[in-house]
Amino acid sequence: MPRNIILSLSLLFAVLVTNVVSAQTVTSYFESELLTQVLHNVQALQLGKVGAIVDKFDTSKNWDWIIEEGSLPEYTNAVTQMSAKGAYTVIDMDKLKFATELSIARTIIHEMVHAHLLLSFLYNNVNASLEYPGIVRAWAATLTPDYNAIQHQEMAESFVDDIAMSLKEYNNNENRFTDSSVYTDLAWGGLDFENNESLNDDDRKHIETTLAKAQLNGLGRLTQ
Ligand SMILES: [Zn+2]
Repeated sequence: MPRNIILSLSLLFAVLVTNVVSAQTVTSYFESELLTQVLHNVQALQLGKVGAIVDKFDTSKNWDWIIEEGSLPEYTNAVTQMSAKGAYTVIDMDKLKFATELSIARTIIHEMVHAHLLLSFLYNNVNASLEYPGIVRAWAATLTPDYNAIQHQEMAESFVDDIAMSLKEYNNNENRFTDSSVYTDLAWGGLDFENNESLNDDDRKHIETTLAKAQLNGLGRLTQ
């Protein structure tokens, strides 16, 4: 084999293995060092429900979550579904190339909650049904349930405050940012805030503006 091909192959291999991180049951395959770092920071969160989910991934055997980068449809930052190997998330860094670090963190936390809900109902169905009766009800209410939308409804009802708290915790570690409503706005990312009855028109507008800024205003800070 020509020397330059061997070199290319070994460089490719080096790139592929650079950011493979496996902490207990969470395995990530990232080319982006920033994404690797943000996931690492998210896995250090301790407060509230998100902290409990991090702990669950740290301590539970077979509680597998695989995350990798990939291309997704327009307006989709990330997707999580079940696979044979566990909960499986794809994150599209092309969509997040101008995003602030906190916006990437909120995306990872959101997908981690999806992974948690999927694995909870798979491995601990009885407890999950008791803890999330709204999911069970919504699942039974229609012949063609949209599991993603059902999980989003549950997140809107019982995770937004905790995700906001975790984003604040994330940011305190990094010592940036002060307006605390930003954390709540970001926690609504990926959820159907446009139609949520607990929010008024001003709330919705504020959330929409904050999310758009966070998705776009990291320009220049992100190098890959
Ligand atoms: Zn989602």
